[in-house]
Amino acid sequence: MFVYADNAATTKLSSKACAAYIKTAEETFGNPSSLHSAGQRAKEVLEDCRMRIARILGADAREILFTSGGSESDNQAILSAARAGAKKGKRKIVSTAIEHHAVLHTLEKLKKEGFEIVLLPVGTEGIVRAEDAAREIDENTALVSVMFANNEIGTLQPVEEIGALCKAKGVPFHTDAVQAVGHVPVDVRKIGCDYLALSAHKFHGPKGVGALFIKRGAPLSSLIEGGAQERGKRAGTEDLPAIVAMTVALEEAVAEMGPVTKRLQSLQTELIDGLAKIPHCALNGDRTRRLPGNVSFCFEGIEGESLLLLLDEMGVCASSGSACTSGSLDPSHVLLAIGRVHDVAHGSLRLTLGRETTKEEVLYMIKCVPAVVERLRNMSPVWRDLQEGKRSYIL
Ligand SMILES: *Cc1c(COP(=O)(O)O)cnc(C)c1O
Repeated sequence: MFVYADNAATTKLSSKACAAYIKTAEETFGNPSSLHSAGQRAKEVLEDCRMRIARILGADAREILFTSGGSESDNQAILSAARAGAKKGKRKIVSTAIEHHAVLHTLEKLKKEGFEIVLLPVGTEGIVRAEDAAREIDENTALVSVMFANNEIGTLQPVEEIGALCKAKGVPFHTDAVQAVGHVPVDVRKIGCDYLALSAHKFHGPKGVGALFIKRGAPLSSLIEGGAQERGKRAGTEDLPAIVAMTVALEEAVAEMGPVTKRLQSLQTELIDGLAKIPHCALNGDRTRRLPGNVSFCFEGIEGESLLLLLDEMGVCASSGSACTSGSLDPSHVLLAIGRVHDVAHGSLRLTLGRETTKEEVLYMIKCVPAVVERLRNMSPVWRDLQEGKRSYIL
């Protein structure tokens, strides 16, 4: 059996989006910046996509900028607000300890340039508190950046509350909504954000394309210099086939959201209940305030990497929070932020279900994961110490 349970990393391109990609690549190959008919046709298609994406987000077409994906959108939003803030002498940025690296690494860069970066903590449930944000936002704050939904543990953040706070204090608000768009309702006016980042490949669109919402009047500087594409804010010929495919994928995801969410929540409950029977384990993140497809656990006495390899052998594609795979021995900053100690954080497993996940696949994972955990524990010296009482259980 083959089970793809890593939809938070990327999703499979939808057939409709793929067909739209090919059709556009073959038929509408003109450069949207060209003045001839082929170029103008491409320009029309581009602007139609901008309007359709804007409509879904509750935005105006002029507030949508096409980018290469979530990372670029996050970078551009944060750097734009930081530069604009610095001009007015504002050099403080308030964010959270559980942001994606596209946000955290951009903030680290700004810290080296002299910005004060405040990362709000989260509780053990993995959710930031609006009161904590309220306490930190002051007249020196250039930007507040809080993600809509966390990519590792799936927790939904109080972005509407924080958006309202920012509005009241006149501070720009950015939200990384990459995990949310296409999965839960997202409305830029309800959130009250100035910037919102999204990425197509997280909702069955192609990789390498995304968008940034910028509220009218909010500062925007470009990361890429060159031509006057995207009204001078992002040089480079637009990837029209990818933009069309992203639009089609988003419309499809939004149209199916209701029934898909219902089905995913039921599969999620079944999977969480099934895995929670494993001794000495814990669910990461709040049980209910989470994305419908996210299941994240820590298992004591094992290494997440070994778990992934053995699951892969059984046909299950999963992910782990610990970052050894990405060349670092540090466990996930998100798991540490929710209070998992290093040893426990290393034994993490993230299974992210998608709209194509079946009940049979969930039942298969409920069979495989406990067996693999047991097999690894039987080989683990740490587990032996725990069993012999030489070490005490944390979970
Ligand atoms: C995937 C992801 C990103 C990065 O998006 P890319 O399009 O892959 O650059 C940023 N933030 C979050 C929360 C993500 O899940």
